[in-house]
Amino acid sequence: MAAVTAATLTLGALPAAAQGSLNMYCSAQVEWCQAAANAFQKETNIRVSVSQKGSGEVLAQIRAEAQNPRGDIWFGGTGDPHLQAAEDKLSAEYRSPMLDQLHDWARKQAEQSGYRTVGIYAGAMGFGYNPELLAKRNIAAPACWKDLLDPRFKGEIQMANPQSSGTAYVMIATIVQLMGEDQAFQYLKDLHRNVNAYPRSGTGPIKAVARGETGLSISFVHDAVTERLGGFPVQYVVPCEGTGYEIGSMSIIAGARNERNAKRFYDWALTPAAQQIGAEAKSFQTPSNRATPVPAEAPQMDQIRLIDYDFAKYGRSDERRRLIERWDREVNNLP
Ligand code: PLP
Repeated sequence: MAAVTAATLTLGALPAAAQGSLNMYCSAQVEWCQAAANAFQKETNIRVSVSQKGSGEVLAQIRAEAQNPRGDIWFGGTGDPHLQAAEDKLSAEYRSPMLDQLHDWARKQAEQSGYRTVGIYAGAMGFGYNPELLAKRNIAAPACWKDLLDPRFKGEIQMANPQSSGTAYVMIATIVQLMGEDQAFQYLKDLHRNVNAYPRSGTGPIKAVARGETGLSISFVHDAVTERLGGFPVQYVVPCEGTGYEIGSMSIIAGARNERNAKRFYDWALTPAAQQIGAEAKSFQTPSNRATPVPAEAPQMDQIRLIDYDFAKYGRSDERRRLIERWDREVNNLP
């Protein structure tokens, strides 16, 4: 089982004239969360505390705290649970003056949610694999979703648990959109025979690939780039049938105690300068501000065969809950 990435950090000493505080729930990679918090704190003197958790876990926490919100801003993580939070009024409406600078897909995320969330990055789903490990075991690399059902991958595959991980939910919603729901669940049951673990965090499986603990993961392909640049033997492939993608998002938590600071962070996080911190922290998603340079290392989204992912449908509260419950009942409980 891969280690869970969860951390609570309070950043270091501040100058005397601190300008209040900001509690950030962060579902991006912890290195990016920390770097963004540091840079914002340095610029504004607002003290930032960061709690990093998976997208599904933050949604559950915000719901549990709804009567007494402890978080102010939710930064990063897949878009579907942010849309679910918007529908359930767990996030606050805010029309940032920065919206005009964003790509259409990021603005559409805001419009679709009644301006309760916004796109901050995009990334495509695919497979990460360890070519050294696969070669040692004489396993040919996969090219398509259907290859993952081949017995050659028995016990070699990891994907995250969709109850905690937004990444895993994007995978399920992708398969449902590619195959239709009943066929998709048959696929997920067949895939289960080849899966050795469903870790909590979306980045758990690719880190297990990097460490040589498993041959293959179902991951966002930019996460494979991060591991490869970290010196690990990791390659990625985008499935031949087409694939889904995420619109990584950001939301202000409804009833936030530090709402003014949250709005300030929100506007700042949509600037090119702030968005470049992602690549500096080795996160290679495609940024949402049109003027933010796309990192040279980022997978080229326009070269990837993307499905027309239905964010409105798969970000709907009842649909997301239903699909995750069905997965838990029909797949996770299988021996
Ligand atoms: N880390 C990275 C690099 C991501 O792109 C995403 C998705 O937005 C996540 C983490 C989200 O993690 P999880 O699948 O645990 O919700």
